[in-house]
Formats: sequence, structure tokens, C-alpha cells
Amino acid sequence: MYVVGLTGGIASGKTTVADIIAAKGINLVDADIVAREVVAIGSEGLAQIRAHFGKDMLLDDGSLNRALLREKIFADDADKQWLNDLLHPMIRTELLAQLAASDSPYTLLVVPLLVENNLTTLCDHVLVVDVAEQVQIQRTMARDSVSQQQAKAILQAQASREQRLAAADSVIVNNDRQQLSHDAAILHQKFLELATIAMAD
Ligand code: ATP
Repeated sequence: MYVVGLTGGIASGKTTVADIIAAKGINLVDADIVAREVVAIGSEGLAQIRAHFGKDMLLDDGSLNRALLREKIFADDADKQWLNDLLHPMIRTELLAQLAASDSPYTLLVVPLLVENNLTTLCDHVLVVDVAEQVQIQRTMARDSVSQQQAKAILQAQASREQRLAAADSVIVNNDRQQLSHDAAILHQKFLELATIAMAD
């Protein structure tokens, strides 16, 4: 199993890069999807959240009231810590299981907060999608219909561009879609070679 971690700030182009690489037959494991799975209806995670915070934390259909949970942990650091201590090991275990089940030459692990949540340890190689912060802000505003102030606040809450680049083994710059496709194809070849070398060891 050779794991390439893909990360980048909000609206940097992670999904765009992941789609290009997936089209080449590479399996994706998506941390955002796994983070939802561990609190899905019927999960151990959701049962523990209900036991800790009470049944108000569930919506009428039995699913997690994410907005209320967000409010709760925003207001209380101890609750935030409790939730992280519960969910982070569950997410890590499930990510490892999905990576182990992958049968492509390498697997792309897409994690927006790879650096922030210290998940680089799951990766053999870290690929960072990089763009200028001003571009991130513009793309976030256009896609999510948020103000410049809101987009800036989201960026502030994430690792800085420098912190992310410091964790990178490879960097792909996303200023132009055509150039991105070209660069992603070259990186894909590099990852195939690295995976082959790692498997031979
Ligand atoms: P998030 O972290 O919010 O999930 P992301 O890193 O996955 O975002 P994408 O969804 O791939 O980023 O791209 C963000 C937005 O920018 C999308 O609306 C996408 O269509 C657009 N976009 C991506 N790459 C380019 C590009 N090179 N030029 C112009 N727009 C782009």
C-alpha cells in the first residue's frame, strides 16, 4: 500500500486534482466522507455523542444535528477536546481500513486538514495543492457565495500556506486548469514509480 496524501487550503483545488488522478484509475480515500461515516445513523460515534450531549443533539430523523454540535464545541474547549478524542481515533482507524482495501497501484488520501490534524503519518508522500491566498479567497467567494470577510476568516482558521508547504514532498500549483492537468499527469507517473520502488523494498 503506497499512500499519497493530497491536501491544500480551502478552494485550492483538491477536488479538481483528485478527479484528474481518479480518472487515471487511482482509488481515492476521502477524509471528509469518512468523518461523516463515523457519525452516521447507527454508528458508535453517534451513539457516544448522544450519550454525552443528550438526545437534543439528534435531528428528528435520528441523524446528527451538526449545527448544534458545532455551536457546542465552539463555546466549550473541553467539549471540543472530548469530541476530538472520540472521533479522531475512529477516523484514523477507518481511513487505514479503506487504504488497506484499496487495490490501485497507489491510493490518494484526500485530507483538507492533513497538516492541522497531523495525518501526514498515514502518508508515504504528501502532495500540496498551492495557490495564492487571494486566489483562494476569490474562488471561495465565487463558489460558496460568501463575503470576502467570511472567506478570509476560513483561511485564518486553517494552516498557513507556509505551514502546508513545509509538509509537502511535492507541490502542484493551481493557477490554470490546463497546466494543472498536465502537471497532475506528470505527478501521477512519478507516484507510480515511487510506489513500484516502495513495493520492491
Ligand atoms: P474545498 O477545500 O473547499 O473542498 P477544493 O480544494 O477541493 O475545495 P475545488 O473544489 O477543486 O477545491 O476548487 C474550488 C473552486 O475553484 C471550484 O469552484 C473549482 O471549480 C474552482 N477552480 C479549481 N481550479 C481552478 C482553476 N485552475 N481556475 C479557476 N477555477 C478553478
